[in-house]
Amino acid sequence: MSKPYRSITLSDSQRVYLPVAIALLVLNIIVIVHSLDASHSGEVSRENFLVGFLFIVISSLIVPRLLPIMDDYPILHWVHILLIAAFIGIITSNQPEHMLNLSIVFIATTLIGTAIIAGRVPAYFLTILVAVTRFYIYQGTIVEDSFESWVRALALPMAGIVCVETISIMRASIAKEVLRLKTINRVAQSFSSSLEINQVITLISHAIQDTLQADTYYVALFYGENLHLDLLYDDGEFFPPMEVPLEGTLAEHLVKTREPLLLYDLSKEHQRLGIQYAIVGKPHISRSWMGAPLIANQKVLGLVAVASYKPGFFNLKDLEMIQSIALQASLAIDNARNHTAVLEQSRQDSLTGALNHGTFITMLQEEIEKSKATNHSVAVVMLDVDSFKQYNDTWGHLVGDQVLTSLTSVIKGHIKQTGLVGRWGGEEFAIALPKASLKQAVSVAERIRGSMQEIDLPSKGNGKMPAPTLSQGIAVFPQDADDAFGLIDTADKRLYCAKQMGRNQIFSDAVERCYAEDPG
Ligand code: GH3
Ligand code: MG
Ligand code: MG
Repeated sequence: MSKPYRSITLSDSQRVYLPVAIALLVLNIIVIVHSLDASHSGEVSRENFLVGFLFIVISSLIVPRLLPIMDDYPILHWVHILLIAAFIGIITSNQPEHMLNLSIVFIATTLIGTAIIAGRVPAYFLTILVAVTRFYIYQGTIVEDSFESWVRALALPMAGIVCVETISIMRASIAKEVLRLKTINRVAQSFSSSLEINQVITLISHAIQDTLQADTYYVALFYGENLHLDLLYDDGEFFPPMEVPLEGTLAEHLVKTREPLLLYDLSKEHQRLGIQYAIVGKPHISRSWMGAPLIANQKVLGLVAVASYKPGFFNLKDLEMIQSIALQASLAIDNARNHTAVLEQSRQDSLTGALNHGTFITMLQEEIEKSKATNHSVAVVMLDVDSFKQYNDTWGHLVGDQVLTSLTSVIKGHIKQTGLVGRWGGEEFAIALPKASLKQAVSVAERIRGSMQEIDLPSKGNGKMPAPTLSQGIAVFPQDADDAFGLIDTADKRLYCAKQMGRNQIFSDAVERCYAEDPG
């Protein structure tokens, strides 16, 4: 079992013990001085001298040495308390009343020290011991009137209860604060290690659940101008992501002010802020609301908000907590987005934005594996710009670049979201069409060829520059080949055929015909 953490640090407990030690020292010196006074009876004086001397040794030499190990051996707290109680008993039983008042100082400081170091139960145990001792002393020796002895005896436990309870509340609030700081630290650590946006959103959800007892919470992020709820939790249920309006909402208020906001009662404050009720999730109306904007590099990325069906549910400490979560989350979201952008860039060709050679092959292989499992076809089109070298030489390389960029846009415009476009090299492109038949692939290739002739190019001299033509070869999985390289190879051979047959055409047949007719 791991060693429990100390409730307070060693130096703190030594500091707390210091007033108790000083009070003990002063009191014991007085007791010793008093015992030296010749007017007192010899036996009491000797006893007092001994007790005073003994407790100076205990309080100044033994207890400070025990403090470091007291948390490891709780029994020492009880031994200490019994010693103190015995000391108070002996001192108070032998002294005149003016000496008893001095012991009050000692009792108070000891009680406070015990409550801080050892906790509520040992402190009450000490109070009871002292109260019982004093009750018997007062009743038996000093005060004849039993009512007065009761009042005197009860005054101490009452003061003790006030002290112990105040200290216990403070200890609890310090413990809560420590827990809060630990949570902030843990949240910060977890955020710093995540590079995926969905992972960051899950972490925000955990952080809110761990720290704030909210009925509702959400994380909304901007995608361009649109605000999207990537996470919505309401009354024990998660809801699917959705787009939400911004105008006239609390979200818009946060985005505009760029400041966190705490509303104790939404029903009273929404008019003052000029805000509409926007119900998301379940059809309950939230009463308390708290939110913080997500800001990174001075840009508002979105917001995080929590709500409760009860009014006045959140306080300023909670607002600090959500602010801290928002701060960590903003950095993590920004990081994750940058990471995704860099990853995306590393998979793309920098001029056209098409997939680079390696990424295209990997993704085509994955697509073929998927198609094997689902019995679907995958068509591959290899495409090459005709006489591009000549085109470059005539119109310049910058116009050539523009043709390649426009060609990529044209291809993307004619294929589905699931399709892939890769730059195979130079002015040669590869296209993958999952679930497409040969007929569909030919039709896509035809449309690309048609659209390429209509691309917008700058005018030069007498008129508009002509767009170059394209040659294309098509092969389909599984009939033409059963893996990515076989498919590309077949499509490439057919592309070569298209060139052989005079360029500006699409070839999807067996290559024998082409070679047979090859004039060379
Ligand atoms: P064919 O019809 O046989 O394909 O002839 P072609 O001229 O298109 O083929 P060739 O392989 O002889 O020339 C390809 C040219 O493409 C040569 C090169 O200058 C040009 N090219 C390759 N990459 C780029 C690029 O990124 N930008 C520009 N502007 N030109 C490029
Ligand atoms: Mg070419
Ligand atoms: Mg080429």
